[in-house]
Amino acid sequence: MSPGYSIKSVLNVVLWYLGAWALLGWLLDLFWPTVTVGLSLLLAWHYYFQFKLLDWLWHRRTLLPPRARGSWSFIYDGIYRTQRKAQQRRRNLAQLLRRFRDAAEAIPDAAIVFRRGGELVWCNKLGQLLFGLKWPADSGIRLANLIRHPEFNRYLKKGDFSHEFYLPSPAREEIELEVRIMPYSADQYLLIARDITQIRKLEKMRKDFVANVSHELRTPLTVIQGYLEILASDPENIAGGLQEKAVKEMSSQSDRMRNLVEQLLSLSRIESQRIDIFEKVVDVPELLHRLQNDAEQLNSEKRHNITFEIAPQKMYGHENELRSAFSNLLSNAIHYTPAGGRIKVSWRAVGQQMEFSVSDNGPGIAADHLPRLTERFYRVDRDRNSRKGGSGLGLAIVKHALERHHCKLSIRSEVDSGSTFSVRVPDNLIVQDQH
Ligand code: ADP
Repeated sequence: MSPGYSIKSVLNVVLWYLGAWALLGWLLDLFWPTVTVGLSLLLAWHYYFQFKLLDWLWHRRTLLPPRARGSWSFIYDGIYRTQRKAQQRRRNLAQLLRRFRDAAEAIPDAAIVFRRGGELVWCNKLGQLLFGLKWPADSGIRLANLIRHPEFNRYLKKGDFSHEFYLPSPAREEIELEVRIMPYSADQYLLIARDITQIRKLEKMRKDFVANVSHELRTPLTVIQGYLEILASDPENIAGGLQEKAVKEMSSQSDRMRNLVEQLLSLSRIESQRIDIFEKVVDVPELLHRLQNDAEQLNSEKRHNITFEIAPQKMYGHENELRSAFSNLLSNAIHYTPAGGRIKVSWRAVGQQMEFSVSDNGPGIAADHLPRLTERFYRVDRDRNSRKGGSGLGLAIVKHALERHHCKLSIRSEVDSGSTFSVRVPDNLIVQDQH
């Protein structure tokens, strides 16, 4: 209670007031009529301020109370204070709600708040985008009527949210969502949906990768095992000349396995190592001369006509990775071009940039294969047992190694005419100072 307002002070005022009227009545010898007038005036005075109070509470928009006197000033001030406090509390709550919504907008997931009965209370922008909801237009509508997915609706109805639920985004089918629901307040639930399309893709890639590697290793192992079984069960064949064929075939298959393992390691090294490509200078001309020597050995069987055009420019980069990329392109050309073909390797300036390219007049590659050529284990010749094909990892290694140097592999090819694999090196990777 206000310190200025007490029973004592009220009694004090009333007694003085009535005392004054009683004295006047006694002097005029009209005691009761005068006291009645005094009481009526007091009543009128109270009614007046009561009316002002009601007018302020119901009709005025202002928070400030009208002026009042006596005990009414305490009542007006009290109400004013209570209203101020309520307003402040409302403001704090609104601020809290705004902060919650800002936070919910900031999270990279869709957030939806709904009542126990399923009515939508609120959702963030991602919720609107991924579930096709409109807020506030849809607020109060049951989720079952907004999200048309029978299984999901059954999940909502069942009310057992101990496990997450997976569903394609109702608004964009190509996106897969992982939904988790948790109690939010007394009768509300919070639904959080996460886009797991990329994770699913990676999972599939990992599974495919393991399946491919197992398959690649199983083929040569089966061949080796087959020969070992024949040799063990029928030693006579050794004398019959099988031994030589078996050893040759087994060593070729073990070469194939070693090659696969080396390529896998090389790919994983390229992917996992962090390098600063500007740290070291690669002497590309020297690297290509070494590649030329290696090519002579690789070419001893097929006797292609291989020419090299080597400009003196050096570049920044990682030597092992560049060697791996360039030599894969050259060994593919040697491998896939029929004997006696023409192969041209060049390292030349194109404007401010440099270009490395390998051209051959081999069998070429049909256009529909080109976009998938750099995928792991992708081969034009689908037959895994084919003697011609390798592991299908070579161009994947080339692509990754080049991407780390901000270079892109371009492939031009025409069936029966030949192929050109080229790499443009941006000018900022070229070493300008050639001392
Ligand atoms: P692989 O280990 O099978 O050679 P790559 O990733 O190096 O795998 O090559 C993928 C496919 O691209 C090969 O299976 C082959 O069919 C085709 N290819 C690559 N280089 C050439 C080329 N110079 N000429 C024709 N086909 C090629």
